[in-house]
Amino acid sequence: MEEQGLLIVLSGPSGVGKGTVRKHLFDHYNNDFDFSISMTTRLKRAGEVEGVDYFFRTKEEFEQYIKEGKLLEYANYVGNYYGTPIDYVRETLDSGQDVFLEIEVQGALKVKKRMPEGIFIFLSPPDLEELKMRIKNRGTDSPEVIGQRMEKAVEELQLIKYYDYVVENDSVDEAARKIRSIIESEHLKVERN
Ligand code: 5GP
Repeated sequence: MEEQGLLIVLSGPSGVGKGTVRKHLFDHYNNDFDFSISMTTRLKRAGEVEGVDYFFRTKEEFEQYIKEGKLLEYANYVGNYYGTPIDYVRETLDSGQDVFLEIEVQGALKVKKRMPEGIFIFLSPPDLEELKMRIKNRGTDSPEVIGQRMEKAVEELQLIKYYDYVVENDSVDEAARKIRSIIESEHLKVERN
């Protein structure tokens, strides 16, 4: 049997810069891992592309996916569903290829239950004030949603203990470099339990 790929899960509070760090990692490093594109019911933001950033689906379509067991995990996050299609993850890992997920914390904890052999990386904000600034500066969310995202971020910081690694996002380049070296080290492990 071919060796399984590694499942790499990058998670952390909204606004911490997961997406930016992930993009930096994919753009600046010669990576061998594939990105799992999530499904969501939230509206497409300007510049986002179907099948590249997300698979944008209606609530009904998403719920059908849940019912059919086609998601590895899903979460209801600030009023919208987000989930990871399971077939892509399974097939890619089975072919020996690594898969990279960038998901919020509740979903990451569900993945940990189903696939505890994954590598779970928590991207933490340098501090909460800075996180607030980042969420505000993104300018795409209403004040109410900003408040909800902040509350969630504070709760999520309590969950670091369930992760294998914590990477502080004080600089995008440094954070991406650290994640890259975590993955390299994981590949060099003699035995994985
Ligand atoms: P945004 O709306 O800013 O694109 O994403 C909101 C949050 O949902 C982010 O924390 C993002 O990482 C997370 N997210 C994206 N895809 C998934 C997914 O498939 N599952 C889960 N649980 N969270 C996701």
